[in-house]
Amino acid sequence: MRVVHTICAMREACAAERARRAGCRVGLVPTMGALHEGHLSLVREARRRCDVVVATIFVNPTQFGEGEDFAQYPRSLKDDCAMLESVGVHVVFAPSAAEMYPGGGARTVVEVGEISSRLDGASRPGHFRGVATVVTKLFHIVSPEMAFFGQKDAAQCAVLKAMVRDLDFGLEMVVCPTVRESDGLAMSSRNRYLTPEERARALTLWRALDAAQRLANEGVCDAAELRREMLQVLKAVDGVRLDYAEVVDPETLLPVAHVCRGALLAVAAWVGETRLIDNVVLPPRGSEGGR
Ligand code: AMP
Repeated sequence: MRVVHTICAMREACAAERARRAGCRVGLVPTMGALHEGHLSLVREARRRCDVVVATIFVNPTQFGEGEDFAQYPRSLKDDCAMLESVGVHVVFAPSAAEMYPGGGARTVVEVGEISSRLDGASRPGHFRGVATVVTKLFHIVSPEMAFFGQKDAAQCAVLKAMVRDLDFGLEMVVCPTVRESDGLAMSSRNRYLTPEERARALTLWRALDAAQRLANEGVCDAAELRREMLQVLKAVDGVRLDYAEVVDPETLLPVAHVCRGALLAVAAWVGETRLIDNVVLPPRGSEGGR
């Protein structure tokens, strides 16, 4: 496994891999590091579907707002590289902020339109501009045939899929299922911030989604009823501060009235100082309908 830190070295590493294996498919797995099984599941899928896997580790300053956790975001490059090597990554790209933004910030940015202001985009203004801009740069630097993202960040997936369509990137976006701890908590680098008490409270997000999902499985189709269920669970626990609990179309992120044609249940909440997100995808119903 090669670890490179400059754009030039990254391009050379990709060119070398392509020269070595004619017609090879390159898979890109962008991350911010502090890796866990969720990230590794993306790499495993990339290994399954591509010949060469490039993982990137970059805590992107432009996607953090003022007062957010950019400075304290966990950085563990050595451990991360060991994990990536163990699952067969070929090249790791770990640039500095100065390498990615030589002028100190992004001058040219990618705005994906209104979808960027929904869900996390509503509570983190400018977040998806930062994400879309850095992912565009990574797509240009690596030129992958496929890019792998986690369902855990459902709004991010919707925004980036829209961007890939709108700007004709000509690559396949692969969304991999959310990897959870054994009790249901979605794995996240930010779980490292939680105290043991907060870790216990953090499970409320999954409990809310699970409760609504059960109702849906029993035949409830009314989005308002499912949303009420999520809110009830989320508001019942002290120390959990709601950001949003929504029932939306997974592609547009707009609210839906009924979930019969499939829907995304999405929640975000602060547990102490830590903002956590989670979601569940409800598949389209069969013809039997629901209430
Ligand atoms: P991050 O390092 O948080 O920017 O995440 C990098 C990629 O890993 C994103 O595509 C995330 O959606 C994905 N990811 C993060 N947590 C999980 C998880 N628990 N399961 C699956 N994918 C995840």
